[in-house]
Amino acid sequence: MSEKQFEQIRLVLVNTTHPGNIGAAARAMKNMGLSQLYLVDPKDYPAEKAIWRAASAVDVLDKAVVVSTLDEAIADCGLVVGTSARERRIPWPLLTPRECGERCWSEAATHPVAIIFGREDRGLTNEELHKCNYHVHIPANPEYSSLNISAALQVICYEIRMAFLTEKEGKALHFDDWDVPPADNKALEHYYEHLEDTLEKLKFLDPDNPRQTVTRLRRLFNRIRMDQMELSILRGMLTSIQNYIYYAEQNDSKGSEK
Ligand code: SAH
Repeated sequence: MSEKQFEQIRLVLVNTTHPGNIGAAARAMKNMGLSQLYLVDPKDYPAEKAIWRAASAVDVLDKAVVVSTLDEAIADCGLVVGTSARERRIPWPLLTPRECGERCWSEAATHPVAIIFGREDRGLTNEELHKCNYHVHIPANPEYSSLNISAALQVICYEIRMAFLTEKEGKALHFDDWDVPPADNKALEHYYEHLEDTLEKLKFLDPDNPRQTVTRLRRLFNRIRMDQMELSILRGMLTSIQNYIYYAEQNDSKGSEK
């Protein structure tokens, strides 16, 4: 069911400054058959300029969902991909635009998928990029690799369309079959909070120290694409560990009262 697949893919623009870019993004999406636009705290929106640049894609703008945080935009997504104009300090699993198109298209058959685009001047923050399962980089001229945001979005949406057309022509895309749906981003965020809290209680993590360990743990778990059942097993383990610590502390304090 390809119509449904297009609707399961959302393009998320974070803190966009120029409304013209939002309009151009809406047009780029509609040209490629996509329609789910999410705007996280846009600087200047709604705006006339967005409407001009959208041309015949005003319908995409009209139903764009404006939210105040990235977490809201991706909460129910089972796959989250972040776009980046450059390499970051901690490397993350990376897709080419073609692999990104194929993966987003095939996963959209079963769950919502988000592709995130950053601010015109400084892209996505590390914290935002660390919420992603994959990053995608358009291999542009290394001397000037930063595309205009709507041009970058056009390339990514084109690759999604190519994946759709390949499937339509009967060249099946190969992806693993799985028995349980993937954990969505909201569930993952809860898990990371639970994990961090537990590791602090265990004194494994020092809350005052730099959080590179947490970033590395996020990368580990985002890389393996946990399903809902696996995540709930891990949550159950964390709860048991926390209960154990709690009772151990109770016993300790009883012991010291004696
Ligand atoms: N100076 C910023 C550039 C941001 S460009 C930086 O270095 O991060 C604005 C947005 O366009 C980026 O956040 C990303 O979403 C997209 N973009 C631009 N060039 C890209 C590229 N080569 N590959 C993937 N996304 C790109």
